[in-house]
Amino acid sequence: MQHKKVAIIGAGIVGLACAWHVLQSGHTVVLIDPAPEGDKASFGNAGGIAVSEVVPASAPGVFLKLPKWLFDPLGPLSLRWTHAPRLLPWMLRFSRVSTRSEMERIAGALSALNNRTYDDLMPLLNSAGLSDKLYNHGALTVYESEMAFQADAAEWELKRQHGVTCTPMSGDEARQLEPALGGLAHKAMFTPQWSQVSDPKDIHNGLLDTVLRNGATIARGAAKRINRTATGVRVEMDGDADVSADLVVLAAGAWSKPLAASIGDRVLLESERGYNTTLPTPGISVTRELIFAERKFVATPLATGLRIGGAAEFGGLTSKPNFKRSEALVKLAKRYLPDLDSDQGIQWSGHRPATPDSLPVIGRSPNNRNVIHAFGHGHLGLTQAATTGRLVADLIDNKPASLDLTPYRIERFTYGA
Ligand SMILES: Cc1cc2nc3c(=O)[nH]c(=O)nc-3n(C[C@H](O)[C@H](O)[C@H](O)COP(=O)(O)OP(=O)(O)OC[C@H]3O[C@@H](n4cnc5c(N)ncnc54)[C@H](O)[C@@H]3O)c2cc1C
Repeated sequence: MQHKKVAIIGAGIVGLACAWHVLQSGHTVVLIDPAPEGDKASFGNAGGIAVSEVVPASAPGVFLKLPKWLFDPLGPLSLRWTHAPRLLPWMLRFSRVSTRSEMERIAGALSALNNRTYDDLMPLLNSAGLSDKLYNHGALTVYESEMAFQADAAEWELKRQHGVTCTPMSGDEARQLEPALGGLAHKAMFTPQWSQVSDPKDIHNGLLDTVLRNGATIARGAAKRINRTATGVRVEMDGDADVSADLVVLAAGAWSKPLAASIGDRVLLESERGYNTTLPTPGISVTRELIFAERKFVATPLATGLRIGGAAEFGGLTSKPNFKRSEALVKLAKRYLPDLDSDQGIQWSGHRPATPDSLPVIGRSPNNRNVIHAFGHGHLGLTQAATTGRLVADLIDNKPASLDLTPYRIERFTYGA
């Protein structure tokens, strides 16, 4: 195997997982990031290893719910109207994949990644000394109405077809499992394969330390463009010295679109801003991640407290956060968890890198074979990071991929595709 110098743009969880796998394969890694230790989606997410989440956001019928969600101040979706014209192509693709057959195709592609999660994640956590920060208590999806429970039956069946174990429960059975749940919990679904980490920030920081200890270096600064050279690639930096390498891995999360464009690759990628509040002293005990089905938010017990999070806000990367959404989520949580103490909550928000088909972009650039894409993981970046890293390392070594990479190729966004 030929030794290569690999520049990885972005030191979020995906970039770091790529770095770990590429170092394992014996190559040199330089991480490019203006703030490798800084706040980002990989710091403040819900911490779920959400392997059972294989149904895309664009599931059929979701369009009918959009108006209600958009005009509900406590609703799961919001749009900054000034951003609407820029969002249009993304929305059009979202509507195109909102069919039964597309949902089934995408579920197959998501489960191909998720079914490998633990195989790729455990060696990485073990090597970084982080395996004691992973807990497997499953997750509980809670329904407040029979109608919503029945309406999701087809999605649960699709999950079962992809190997997800799901056990239906009555409200009382759910309360036996999680006594903090109040009377609003009418039905529930238990998914035992789901795990969670004690704090995503600890996983990020621990992995960053590990890759630096294993020889990765940091070029602190923002990448501006990716240029072709006679022998490889040169990453033009915003004000800092350029970085030359044999190969580039583009893993800048929600910021990846202009960098892909600099080599002529079109992608439909949006920031889907999420919000949460972490309650250090919630006054109740919750053992596993709770997912509130109708309201589309979650409560995760972390080392730092109970994290109440969710929301999907489309407003671009530069709009200011609206922390009223964090407050709204806590208000909602109190309906389900009546004894919740919401004092001293710490609010946070971050940018999910969202594609309209809920699939990440993984694979070689068609315009520059020395550039490998690894971004767009939406709601599942923590879950899919290690597997993405494994796939990227195999591409670098020209090894046959362990799964069909066709669904994740950036070519799906080429005009007319
Ligand atoms: C509220 C919320 C809850 C979530 N819950 C879960 C969950 O339970 N489970 C799960 O699997 N996923 C979850 N996610 C999704 C997950 O957090 C993301 O998919 C994941 O963190 C994306 O990782 P990333 O490395 O691609 O991007 P990021 O973490 O955003 O990192 C991108 C990095 O790129 C750097 N960068 C940006 N521009 C440049 C540039 N020009 N040059 C160089 N570097 C640059 C940034 O500084 C940053 O360090 C959640 C997300 C949110 C917002």
